[in-house]
Amino acid sequence: MLFSKIHGLDEVKTRLVNAAKNDQVAHAQLFLGKPGSPNLAMALAYAAFLNCENRTEEGACGSCPSCLKNQKYVHPDVHFVFPVSSTKKVTGKDVVSNSFLKEWRQFLIENPYGDLNTWSGYYGGEDKQVNISKEESRQIIKNLSLKAFEGKYKVMIVWLPEFMHPSAANGILKILEEPPESTIFLLVSNDSERLLTTILSRTQIVNIPMFADEDIRNILTNSHGIDAGKAEEVAHLADGDISKAFRLSNNLEDDNQQIFADWMRDCFKRDFASLVKRADTYHGMNKLAQKSLLQFTLNILRETLVYIPAREVARTGGKINEFVDKFSKVMDANKIEKIAKLVNEAHYHIERNASPKMTFLDLSLQIARIIK
Ligand SMILES: [Zn+2]
Repeated sequence: MLFSKIHGLDEVKTRLVNAAKNDQVAHAQLFLGKPGSPNLAMALAYAAFLNCENRTEEGACGSCPSCLKNQKYVHPDVHFVFPVSSTKKVTGKDVVSNSFLKEWRQFLIENPYGDLNTWSGYYGGEDKQVNISKEESRQIIKNLSLKAFEGKYKVMIVWLPEFMHPSAANGILKILEEPPESTIFLLVSNDSERLLTTILSRTQIVNIPMFADEDIRNILTNSHGIDAGKAEEVAHLADGDISKAFRLSNNLEDDNQQIFADWMRDCFKRDFASLVKRADTYHGMNKLAQKSLLQFTLNILRETLVYIPAREVARTGGKINEFVDKFSKVMDANKIEKIAKLVNEAHYHIERNASPKMTFLDLSLQIARIIK
């Protein structure tokens, strides 16, 4: 992870970069943020920055040998401790971070903003209670007793230290207070109240704020290919919580698909009573949701248009594909173009505060007419 890949939060980044520039990196820092904040991503970016061989004002270079290792989370001087539970394959004393390193690295690459639920599903922990066991504190001490292999700093990232078994927490108090030379602890916590005060008092707190709506929107559109209207709606609902934003964008996709499928079915059947009711329902949704539904409709129309002449190049997957397949059998390019034009106009009217009820009802009637 690099600072430049995390949207926003410039103030925190500058503070962290300056501390390193002035050789004032506290040896034990607590990256404190609410669930859904990018506190883990920030710690990962900081670890990369600390050992980067060509640091810039903005952060790590991203291309030196150290950065390349950090991007795969295999740098020999960056260690990880995180909550785990037993699985079908890993039990007893083996239930420590090291047994799950392979999964952990892949998890970080795929979900740098992942939360505990995502992690637990990822390594196969299901709903079992996770923790950071007593055994883990011995590993921490062992890992840190060696000199740094190649980096300037040895970095120990402890994700969610609130899950430390009390004896594990007590086990690292001494090394946390007096770590070996050039050793940096980055504790990444969502809940400082669940930490032992003896741990808290030994760390410097770095508050990591939630993302701004604008940052969430950018993450969804730039890195996850979500269309602008939907990203805007999700960002609005997510309240800065990036995990929630990812969950919502998945759900919203499913919701929109269901609504769209039912809506088109009514248009085909020319069920006018139901179409009137639908217009009422859509009227009751907020404006962002209305725009997101229209945007979704346009996407499906586009997919269907591509799908009709060249089934093999269709880009949709899973559930949508099946739907596009059915939809394509009753549609042709001419009809789709006409409907797409109307949907675009409806989007324009909603944007300019036309009555949603009238806009959707009019759109439904015209679609019913075109389909026939
Ligand atoms: Zn670098």
